[in-house]
Amino acid sequence: MKVIWNSEIVERSEVRIDPEDRGYQFGDGIYEVIRAYNKQYFCLDEHIDRFYSSASKIEMHIPYSKEELKELLNRLLVETGVHTGNVYLQMTRGISSPRNHMYPDAAVLPMLTGTMTSVERDADQMSKGIATIVTEDIRWLKCDIKMISLLGNIMVKHEAHKRNAEEAILHRDGIVTECSSSNVAIVKDGKIWTHPDGNLILPGITKIVWKKCAEKLGYPVIEKPFSLDDLYDADEVFCSSTTIEVMPVCKIGNNVLFDQVPGQVTMALQKAYLHEIEKQCGK
Ligand code: PLP
Repeated sequence: MKVIWNSEIVERSEVRIDPEDRGYQFGDGIYEVIRAYNKQYFCLDEHIDRFYSSASKIEMHIPYSKEELKELLNRLLVETGVHTGNVYLQMTRGISSPRNHMYPDAAVLPMLTGTMTSVERDADQMSKGIATIVTEDIRWLKCDIKMISLLGNIMVKHEAHKRNAEEAILHRDGIVTECSSSNVAIVKDGKIWTHPDGNLILPGITKIVWKKCAEKLGYPVIEKPFSLDDLYDADEVFCSSTTIEVMPVCKIGNNVLFDQVPGQVTMALQKAYLHEIEKQCGK
């Protein structure tokens, strides 16, 4: 399979990563996940903008223009022949040899990689929803940076898996933030509540799209912190991310929200989101 390796598209077997690469040593890097449908990326500009924003928040210089990155990603799509799938674009701060916590000299080039996999939309799961658990948000205080050091996220995801759930809904002192790998929203009396952007959550690209859909459909969106009590009291709960789109939550711990038909607002958003995909990427 072809992959992006710095400014080139090469066979995966040709990629060489130094053991002293800072991504490997410190988790010092950023990434993006972008979905393609029908051989077209969805929300590519928004993802590239967030990649640049994450880089600037950690003072990492991207030695490529946005146009060059888009061009590389488009070439990857063509050369892999993937129709519908996900690309993981990752950039680390390059090599610190010998190992040194300090940022390296500006002359040290970052390491860029991009891998693409075919993944179909999981319409079945999107209609059935996912089971979740609630657990403490144990991550750091800069969750707005899409960084590759994901230990906090994977630990809570693993906890969800051990408890037979697909996703972990996180809270800080009783305030719901987001999930291990998605944003979360609740619906109460026809209004949608979700945590405001800031340092405690990742500003989701999927959220930007579903918020526009909600506006068109006439559902007010309230971006204010809400509590665990609000979560348990919600009419509907859904998660959102590039890979799972708008995903109903059917269970929180042992609390079953629905066992057949997901909530009306969630399903309306899911349908409108698909419409946005089709508008950008075709049917
Ligand atoms: N929050 C976290 C922690 C995530 O990992 C993700 C996506 O991977 C999201 C939110 C949703 O972001 P997006 O909609 O841009 O995929």
